[in-house]
Amino acid sequence: MTRISDMDLARLWLRVWRPEPGIYAAPAATVKWDGTALICAPGQAELDPAAALLCPALASRLAQLQRRKAAAVQEPSIAALEACYGPATAALAAGGAVMSEGGFRTRLAECRGCDLWRETAREGRGLCDSVKSRCSHPLLWLVGKRCPESKWAA
Ligand code: SF4
Repeated sequence: MTRISDMDLARLWLRVWRPEPGIYAAPAATVKWDGTALICAPGQAELDPAAALLCPALASRLAQLQRRKAAAVQEPSIAALEACYGPATAALAAGGAVMSEGGFRTRLAECRGCDLWRETAREGRGLCDSVKSRCSHPLLWLVGKRCPESKWAA
């Protein structure tokens, strides 16, 4: 396995860089490259913004793969996250990097102060009513999530 940067990953995705076939690990994803096609598995880090700018298709594909991985794990309720954050998020790490407990609590406080927050929706898992959100599932525990109204500090 060869370590590469997210920018190299974007160049490989765009086929402007064609290395020898093999497995290449960038912070945001690991890819198997056979010289023609790529098989991609998302990593733990968010894609470098410069790489996302260079290759929006890669950013979109990684976001889609992250959502699929996250969806495969039962999402805990807000009450469970509040009561016992570490154990409640233990299984979620496979779906992407998990926020620190402090970061989660800061986001939760920001949502609770927001008119668009519906904490009891989705069986207590919370819902964001922003029309700017492509996905109403706030997933406060997921590092890569962003508040669609830019109200979160992180
Ligand atoms: S994610 Fe942002 S817009 Fe949505 S409820 Fe939370 S603070 Fe409000």
